[in-house]
Amino acid sequence: MEENKVALITGGARGIGKAIAIKFAKEGYNLVINYVSDKTDVKRLEEEFRQYNIDVLLVKTDVSNFDDCEKMVKDAIEKFGHIDVLVNNAGITKDNLILRMSVEDFERVIDINLKGTFNVTKNVVPYMMKKRAGRIINLASVVGVSGNAGQCNYAASKAGIIGFTKSIAKELASRNILANCVAPGFIDTDMTSVLNDSVKESIGTQIPLKRMGTAEEVANIVHFLGGEENTYITGQVINIDGGMLM
Ligand code: NAP
Repeated sequence: MEENKVALITGGARGIGKAIAIKFAKEGYNLVINYVSDKTDVKRLEEEFRQYNIDVLLVKTDVSNFDDCEKMVKDAIEKFGHIDVLVNNAGITKDNLILRMSVEDFERVIDINLKGTFNVTKNVVPYMMKKRAGRIINLASVVGVSGNAGQCNYAASKAGIIGFTKSIAKELASRNILANCVAPGFIDTDMTSVLNDSVKESIGTQIPLKRMGTAEEVANIVHFLGGEENTYITGQVINIDGGMLM
């Protein structure tokens, strides 16, 4: 029998990351998932994922810390022997207009969103190169393309992720490693639950489909890009935003 494939999903304990993890679990992938919050109920999550008859490794890892990421990947390889799909999903916002934005808030968002994507990818790529196969999907955002007032740190981190992804897509194509970005618009998760009412009201006017997206809708696209059916898409940014950015 063929060995289960393995998907490493950062920030897979909740929100979009969790929906992605469940989608891969349903397809029989073993999972490596990191979390940072002390509130994470690791036992309950393990039980939830194992319902899909797969194995899961849950690791406490701050993606902004390179050594932490190196250890997470080593632990994953020790347990499963390979990583087939990497989803760099962990991300935060710390919104403010540039005049009010602190240096700390600018740096923290870049460190987690952009440097975190580098930290995990750099550690995973050697194993994918050895296998001459791999799929990397990075969570960008429509604001990484369009910009957004009040989000210069976040938009810069997501624009950086797009440039990073296109560069590694070119570097790694000869080893059959495909790298793409998914750029969501407004998706209903904890991240967007803090948006004020005027932003939420603008959804009706800004989004042709007139609603927020769901984490599951994003997971479907990530799963396609990470799966066996994707053999010829690399270096792309796929918007999933109800038509917000055309
Ligand atoms: P979320 O509900 O706020 O979840 C964020 C995830 O990132 C959590 O699992 C969290 O871990 C993890 N995380 C935060 N800081 C971390 C760190 N230092 N190290 C490792 N993990 C860390 O966010 P979401 O809405 O699901 O967003 C997921 C991704 O999609 C993000 O990259 C986000 O920028 C992107 N995105 C979201 C939207 C949207 O509308 N929601 C739109 C565009 C792009 P814990 O669970 O341990 O806290």
